[in-house]
Amino acid sequence: MTAASWALRAACRGIDLEAFFTESRTGMEQAKRFCAVCPVRRDCLAEALQAEDQSARYGVFGGFSAAERTDMVRRQRRATPKAAPVPKQPRQPAKCGTRPGYQKHIRERTEICGPCRQANTDADNRLRRTGTTKAAR
Ligand code: SF4
Ligand SMILES: [Zn+2]
Repeated sequence: MTAASWALRAACRGIDLEAFFTESRTGMEQAKRFCAVCPVRRDCLAEALQAEDQSARYGVFGGFSAAERTDMVRRQRRATPKAAPVPKQPRQPAKCGTRPGYQKHIRERTEICGPCRQANTDADNRLRRTGTTKAAR
């Protein structure tokens, strides 16, 4: 099943997604209520875990907040026997005009610049349309 086909059955399809991208507890709880009854919750979570920037998770997907997904991945990693260490890639600073850039503003509580705001809106619109924030290739 492709991302687009499961996204058609998403409980959050067509609704205002603001609650899914808020830092407020009430907003997140509201979003999670959609996820709780969503038939594609597993696909959504799997897609989020696979597609999102591990150092800059954001939003509620598959019923889990960004912090909860980070915990989940950490726990999974701890449970998995260690493979040979992968050399660490130097972290690229998030650029303005990208969604990670937007997320960086949020994290660092700096003023969100126009290009970042636009990039985030574009990503939200993509999510609405396709079920993923990734740009089409
Ligand atoms: S965020 Fe994912 S799990 Fe939650 S309602 Fe939307 S598609 Fe379903
Ligand atoms: Zn910016």
